[in-house]
Amino acid sequence: MRLVLLGLPGAGKGTQGEHIAAKYGIPHISTGSLIREAVASGTPLGREANGYITKGELIPDELAIRILHERLKEPDCAGGWILDGFPRTVRQAVFLDEQLAQSSSAVQIALDIRISPDEAIRRISQRRVCSQCGAVYHLTYYRAKGKGVCDKCGGDLIQRADDTVETARNRLEVYLVQTHPVVHYYAQSGRLYSVDGEAPIEKVFADVDSLISGFAAHGVQETAGGAR
Ligand code: ADP
Ligand code: AMP
Repeated sequence: MRLVLLGLPGAGKGTQGEHIAAKYGIPHISTGSLIREAVASGTPLGREANGYITKGELIPDELAIRILHERLKEPDCAGGWILDGFPRTVRQAVFLDEQLAQSSSAVQIALDIRISPDEAIRRISQRRVCSQCGAVYHLTYYRAKGKGVCDKCGGDLIQRADDTVETARNRLEVYLVQTHPVVHYYAQSGRLYSVDGEAPIEKVFADVDSLISGFAAHGVQETAGGAR
């Protein structure tokens, strides 16, 4: 299965990506996480990307494409993947299609997880992430059991530098201008599906799961109540 997750920042791409990866045994690849790792390790690429991330801007297409291209060469990608945060521009989407065409494969599902901009701000500003394993929590909707520590590994929970309300507003603006056209790009080629991302996490996953399993069994169009 080759799936890309679309949606506003905070829509739940990372959360659903982890659930899909766990159930279907394919890697969940978040370009945002890869970039943050590069920033934390102080690589030249990380140093270049840092200024963009902290302002809530996209990093240049060449950099994002290079990061994804390297990651897709890893052996765990041979059986499919879930992309979270890529493509974020039409140029990135075209790159991905051209790259995959060389191996006679293609993105099968572009899944738009839909939430309102107000909900996006509520989610982003209260998101907390584990500084060690990257697990994602929310101060109201999805709390860690221990105060300020990760349920999975005990690491400290922190707020991402770009998760302030002000930067979040800029990220929404950037999404509407630069990333929303990607939704149309996939719609034009009949690969766009959507789910209501404002439902509880388990309900969103149930919808996503029924879409993916329907696709695997018959192609999504034939599933009852198809999610388009
Ligand atoms: P994205 O990867 O799209 O930026 P995340 O998966 O990191 O979004 O989710 C953003 C925040 O919203 C996190 O704090 C997460 O715990 C929370 N969240 C994700 N999905 C839901 C949901 N369906 N309902 C409520 N909160 C959610
Ligand atoms: P995310 O973790 O998906 O919210 O991404 C965090 C930040 O990483 C974004 O605001 C961008 O600065 C950068 N980023 C992640 N993926 C891409 C991409 N495909 N293209 C450009 N910038 C990206």
